Amino acid sequence: LRRNPGEVEFHQAVKEVFDSLGPVLRKKPEYVEGAVLSRICEPERQIIFRVPWVDDAGRVRINRGFRVEYSSVLGPYKGGLRFHPSVYLGIIKFLGFEQIFKNSLTGMPIGGAKGGSDFDPHSASDGEVMRFCQSFMTELYRNLGEHTDVPAGDIGVGAREIGYLFGQYKRITNRHESGVLTGKGLTWGGSLVRTEATGYGVVYFVKEMLEEIGTQLEGRRVTVSGSGNVATYAIEKAQQLGAKVVACSDSSGYIVDEEGIDLELLKQIKEVERARIHCYAERRPSAVFSDTGSIWDVPVDVALPCATQNELDDEAAATLVANGAVAVAEGANMPCTPAAIGVFQDAGVKYAPGKASNAGGVATSALEMQQNAARDSWSFEDTEQKLHQIMHDIHDRCSETAEEYGQPGNYVLGANIAGFTKVADAVIAMGVV
Ligand code: NDP
Repeated sequence: LRRNPGEVEFHQAVKEVFDSLGPVLRKKPEYVEGAVLSRICEPERQIIFRVPWVDDAGRVRINRGFRVEYSSVLGPYKGGLRFHPSVYLGIIKFLGFEQIFKNSLTGMPIGGAKGGSDFDPHSASDGEVMRFCQSFMTELYRNLGEHTDVPAGDIGVGAREIGYLFGQYKRITNRHESGVLTGKGLTWGGSLVRTEATGYGVVYFVKEMLEEIGTQLEGRRVTVSGSGNVATYAIEKAQQLGAKVVACSDSSGYIVDEEGIDLELLKQIKEVERARIHCYAERRPSAVFSDTGSIWDVPVDVALPCATQNELDDEAAATLVANGAVAVAEGANMPCTPAAIGVFQDAGVKYAPGKASNAGGVATSALEMQQNAARDSWSFEDTEQKLHQIMHDIHDRCSETAEEYGQPGNYVLGANIAGFTKVADAVIAMGVV
């Protein structure tokens, strides 16, 4: 706490991991003797920089850019960039810390990192977003490379921003180095299924969780919070597997559609028009918009929080439990507060932490890197099949580890210990570096 004052989200993320590690530290004293925890908590490198740009009115604007290169023991630094006004070092560090263990769980050779800026793309024109991205990359490019550090998208960074970032990297370095960013457009090195991967992966994970307790997703009522990249494709896959998604949201409120969400309409409003969620209810008679109360008040069997950190607290969790929810899987990073997780676990609701259930995005980014390295591109079906297998393996790894450590069904313990062990072994193997 003294070393990282005021970084509340970072403290929360570290505590959540450490609270699970007691059994493994007792079993493997070399982790304690080798100071593995202290080493993992301290990022290998933290880069903070000024991002100057000129707005449409000709005024000079200044934002702050971050890249926290957390751990490279398993592979090059890998993790997204977030552009949102709430971004500060504590958010980037919590995301980077989580990313180490998530990437480890995927079984792919990727280290952990995260970056971003307090820039708000929602309130900027397309030209302003481009100039901002160019300025951001003009500073960050010297730290990147396909073997060094490979960013991707996150909140506020989608296909448009990745395009501007890649274009500037290519211009400065005079290299079409495809493997330096993931989430690229399909004609210039992107991978099929990357756009869908996080949302699809969350739903595959839930399906496995439900099957493990002898039930299924088909026919279930589902709420998905958010309406961005992760939420959209979680809705799509849940619908494909026969569930009925009845609610979604953005930061202005939420909609409930008892006929099931019309995904084409949602995509038109969110991806094409970049409009607010109330527009959905204005065009769909079966839907109502609300900006009071909580999306978690809607009675459902399955809740998929896919917007942002700490969006689901203990009160919301208690309401979900009272309404009969059977499973919760995190599409966002750390969307459930520690108290909410406690409520789910005490009530016997199946709960999957984001570092396991939302790992499909970064895993498919690693598949994109493989295709770039081989100068190849795979079909949608092949890539989705690989994603499906990866999510199945992550599920089983978490489940088996929880069982091995005497807490069957505890995905928090399973994910943290399985993710941590691989990183810790690599840290020890590489000596004091
Ligand atoms: P997007 O920017 O595409 O969408 C974010 C969505 O969440 C929007 O609907 C946004 O609403 C809403 N939201 C953001 N901040 C808040 C807030 N403070 N309160 C309420 N709603 C909010 O981001 P992604 O879908 O990419 O990311 C969503 C979450 O998933 C994040 O936690 C991210 O870290 C995590 N994640 C993303 C991955 C990916 O591949 N993209 C991979 C793994 C995890 P509005 O537009 O009004 O701001």
